[in-house]
Amino acid sequence: MKVFINGKFVDKEDAKVSVFDHGLLYGDGVFEGIRLYSRCVFKLHEHLERLEQSAKAILLDLPMTREQLTEAVIESCRVNELTDGYLRLVITRGPGHLGLTPDGCGPAGVIIIADNIQLYPKEMYESGLKIITVATRRINSAALPPAVKSLNYLNNILAKIEAKKVGFQEALMLNDKGEVAECTGDNVFVIKKGQLYTPPLDAGSLRGITREVVIDIAHELGVPFSEQALTRYDLWNADECFLTGTAAEVIPCVEVDHREVGSGVPGDLTKSFISHFRQKVSVDGVLI
Ligand code: PMP
Repeated sequence: MKVFINGKFVDKEDAKVSVFDHGLLYGDGVFEGIRLYSRCVFKLHEHLERLEQSAKAILLDLPMTREQLTEAVIESCRVNELTDGYLRLVITRGPGHLGLTPDGCGPAGVIIIADNIQLYPKEMYESGLKIITVATRRINSAALPPAVKSLNYLNNILAKIEAKKVGFQEALMLNDKGEVAECTGDNVFVIKKGQLYTPPLDAGSLRGITREVVIDIAHELGVPFSEQALTRYDLWNADECFLTGTAAEVIPCVEVDHREVGSGVPGDLTKSFISHFRQKVSVDGVLI
């Protein structure tokens, strides 16, 4: 495997960053996870736009233009002869001093890893996932906007560990008002009486690219959609529930906090969202 690092493709073993890089020392940087489906880099422009916005929010100047990043992503797929896979695009603040200030850090690092990913076993897309609410709250947006896809994922990692310790693959995270924010790496949707709901971004959710695709599908299918603050109760009493994310795609959720969602099996509308999503992935992006 060849990794793109600061303008060059090098062997995996030689892809190294400085121990003084603030990306390593402080999680100071931003990233994107992107999928390649049948030679199509799904929603590449949208991912790069979000990367630019995350970088702007943390006052990090991207060292490459949108066009250069697009080329580097495409080249990473080609060099690794991938037709399907997962791309991790990482921007670090760059090497600096041991203090917190980014002054004097640089140049910013650009890393692209082109690999594969299988977050959940295939059967789970048929049978559905079970999730549990954890005590770790989603970070307050006044502390760090959850819309920033930063290299500092400890909040989500702690929630994931909590869920795993009690035998669940994914955790439901609430915000500090006790409303549903999102899962550790996925957005949450529910269906109730034929209507689709997801928490608004200010509940502490990332503006997921897959979330946006699902909202588009809702419009195409004529399923009424609204962003609405949701509580755990709303999830327990939903007819259907599913999670969305680049790695997870669209996955049914059939149990929340030991309560079956609907009849405890993936619902018909969820299945319809999954099949429409799969139709889009190899056409709605940039071909390599
Ligand atoms: N929320 C969080 C915290 C995430 O890290 C992600 C990405 N894995 C998502 C939601 C889903 O976003 P996307 O659909 O853009 O992958």
